[in-house]
Amino acid sequence: MARLYDSRKRILITGGAGFLGSHLSDRLLEQGHEVICVDNLFTGSKRNIDHLHNNPLFEFMRHDVTFPLYIEVDEIYNLACPASPVHYQHDPVQTTKTSVHGAINMLGLAKRLNCKIFQASTSEVYGDPSVHPQPEAYWGNVNPIGIRSCYDEGKRCAETLFFDYYRQHNLQIKVARIFNTYCPRMHHADGRVVSNFIVQALRGEPITVFGEGAQTRSFCYADDLVEGFIRLMETADDVTGPVNLGNPAEFTILELAQKVIELTGSRSEIVYEEMPQDDPKQRQPDISLAKSVLGWSPKIELEQGINRTIAYFRELLPELKSG
Ligand code: NAD
Ligand code: UDP
Repeated sequence: MARLYDSRKRILITGGAGFLGSHLSDRLLEQGHEVICVDNLFTGSKRNIDHLHNNPLFEFMRHDVTFPLYIEVDEIYNLACPASPVHYQHDPVQTTKTSVHGAINMLGLAKRLNCKIFQASTSEVYGDPSVHPQPEAYWGNVNPIGIRSCYDEGKRCAETLFFDYYRQHNLQIKVARIFNTYCPRMHHADGRVVSNFIVQALRGEPITVFGEGAQTRSFCYADDLVEGFIRLMETADDVTGPVNLGNPAEFTILELAQKVIELTGSRSEIVYEEMPQDDPKQRQPDISLAKSVLGWSPKIELEQGINRTIAYFRELLPELKSG
């Protein structure tokens, strides 16, 4: 239900034209808020927000968060950063700058406006974890000089900045550690595993499992995740996080490949490719904190979410529409 006019907020979402940012924009607009979407369209796309252009409460601003931004808003969700390993490794220096300079610029903005700021952190702060499942108290096992470090260490440094602004400037911060998320609107060439496998299966191409596929991930549907974002943003001032947000149902990558083949009815074969450097062997969120503090847990199961994502890609891919 739409909120009353006097409770309407003007909300900045950096990375708002990305996969998660566009779903968050939808949800906040449905709640009656104004959304300013700031994005440099590095991995995001205007297509993700096309349906919002006629909405008078929505505004798109092309801007790179590594440069300062001067606008007036009531809340900030800082999501700007490529999330797929293929994309964040494409220009690793820019990835670190986006996390670190982007955090400094957005924290500076929040300090000037004295407003709440949310950080989209990541399970990658745990690196290749030696504690399983991962609770927030675990400090992680991250290689500082590997090919994933631009993302992992950039996000870790952003968390440091958020907590220093909290301690030093009393800023209201909300830090979420997001685990693997999927849903319609992932880019078909995004390179992340769920979109890769579905697109390969629908095209009848080989499904590329890295290593033996024994590594695990836990996949959360974006609608569930966005609900967690908003609940965290609405918590009392003393709740800072970090809070894990993700679906604890854990699968091997091989199981995911088999599930996608089954649900698409594809004849694709599975091929095994070299395991990328520093690929985490296991990942599962401990969501006890999210349950107790936010009253949140994911509702959408893998099969249901994968079916919806398959339907999206069937509609999207032109060669499948004409075939
Ligand atoms: P995405 O790549 O679809 O979206 C990121 C958005 O940020 C894109 O629209 C991109 O163009 C924009 N962007 C990148 N650099 C920018 C810059 N310098 N200035 C302005 N905009 C910039 O990825 P996503 O999955 O939507 O991820 C959103 C956030 O959530 C990211 O911060 C990511 O690290 C975090 N996260 C996502 C996942 C996941 O599984 N989706 C998991 C953990 C963390
Ligand atoms: N992966 C895979 N085949 C692919 C893409 C990814 O086997 O075509 C594996 C990858 O090695 C990793 C897991 O799937 O173990 C998740 O990869 P993704 O890039 O989606 O996210 P990550 O969790 O590694 O950041």
